[in-house]
Amino acid sequence: MYRKLIFELSKEGREGHTLPRCDVPVKKNEDLIPDKYLRHKAANLPQVAENEVVRHFVMLSTLNHHVDKAFYPLGSCTMKYNPKINERLAGLPGFMNLHPEQPAEKVQGALRLMYELGELLKEITGFSAITLQPAAGAQGELTGLLLIKKYHQMKGRQRTVILVPDSAHGTNPASAAICGFRIKTVRSTEQGLVDMEDLKAKTDENVAGIMLTNPSTLGIFETQLKEIRAVMDEVDALMYMDGANLNALFGIVRPGETGFDVMHINLHKSFSTPHGGGGPGSGPVAVNDKLKDYLPAPIIIEKNGRYLLEYNLPESIGSVHTFYGNFAIFVRAYAYIRILGKSGLPQVTRHAIINANYLKAQLKELFELEYPAPTMHEFVLSAEKQKKRGAKALDIAKRLLDYGVHPPTVYFPLIVKEAMMIEPTESESKEMLDVFVQSLKQIDREIDENLETVLQAPHNTPVRRLDEAGAVKNLNINYFKNKV
Ligand SMILES: *Cc1c(COP(=O)(O)O)cnc(C)c1O
Repeated sequence: MYRKLIFELSKEGREGHTLPRCDVPVKKNEDLIPDKYLRHKAANLPQVAENEVVRHFVMLSTLNHHVDKAFYPLGSCTMKYNPKINERLAGLPGFMNLHPEQPAEKVQGALRLMYELGELLKEITGFSAITLQPAAGAQGELTGLLLIKKYHQMKGRQRTVILVPDSAHGTNPASAAICGFRIKTVRSTEQGLVDMEDLKAKTDENVAGIMLTNPSTLGIFETQLKEIRAVMDEVDALMYMDGANLNALFGIVRPGETGFDVMHINLHKSFSTPHGGGGPGSGPVAVNDKLKDYLPAPIIIEKNGRYLLEYNLPESIGSVHTFYGNFAIFVRAYAYIRILGKSGLPQVTRHAIINANYLKAQLKELFELEYPAPTMHEFVLSAEKQKKRGAKALDIAKRLLDYGVHPPTVYFPLIVKEAMMIEPTESESKEMLDVFVQSLKQIDREIDENLETVLQAPHNTPVRRLDEAGAVKNLNINYFKNKV
């Protein structure tokens, strides 16, 4: 169906707004803004009535797949349902209309919320200090690595290497490279754990630390943390944990007690902020005493019931974000943790783990399962059998869209051929999981009975199969440019 673009709906003189009369003396733009900054040509905006604007955006919101529309089992990305009440709370005027330049004594409530969120996250992770500043998981990684770098610098030495297992999330080596480290990849065993022999062989006086995604992108909990710690201790290297997917652990395991020195948390995955599409994120970094003096400034401290911003941190690595980070995300995370409480958080984790294990049990006959170790919040299947019959993981992923399900992450992690990485999350019912299983079984039958349908999928989506490589290489998203 051809849908008109909002620019094509535009008619000169149509208005989509009704604003109250201005109740302050009107000044002309020219009096307020220096001429050189003024736009003299009117912006080319569509002129449409209010109902057309509303229909336009409602229509757009249904074109894409999203978690409010249907199941979204995208591995590693934790696309779970987030309670709407937390959106309401983040939108309360007292939070929403704050300005970061307001003096601390005028925003005690906001500072208290940030302080208490920090305390809660310290309790959840088992670390002694925290910064809420980083605006994403990857920025948290960079912050954590800068802290590790500083740790070695303070000891008067230059360490150049970060160890990263081959089952790590892709941002780990990328962050280490941006931080100026060389990356040495550590192999995984057939069980999906760190290969200790390979680790030992690659550990020397150049190693600054190791970055572990735990659970790994295979959804497997690393059980050799003590042994890894011992190897790192031999050269005084530190241990970084990628805790983006903390919904596999929180309330049950405290990473700070399992040998790690520093970790980041993705509030926009596990703690109730919707994500995707490059929206705002928050990747707090928690550390132990070895690193706490180097945290970005300011940190929030409490003194006699008052909350203060402490900028005087002589050994700090400096700021990593303007002001304090993405405040509205802190409100959601705070509300989420307080509503669930001490008994609710482990329940979330158990549901995430049970859902993943249920799906794995339902699907392990249909697909190949290279790593049968117990699954945490996600697991990785291989579509090798299906590929031999003519349909690759990508084809299956595209066909799933016709069944109204977002595909799992495909072709990652790289150590599994034809990988399909599935994370159902804790927020789905058994009925929904069964629909997903039935869809995959049906697609598997289609491979033998109707291969072309699978290979040409999707059929029922707003656009058919796209040239993804072409879209990346020749990015052109300008409507006007496309039109001429
Ligand atoms: C999502 C994710 C990241 C990166 O987080 P961003 O906020 O997207 O930068 C890092 N590690 C893991 C395991 C993740 O799932």
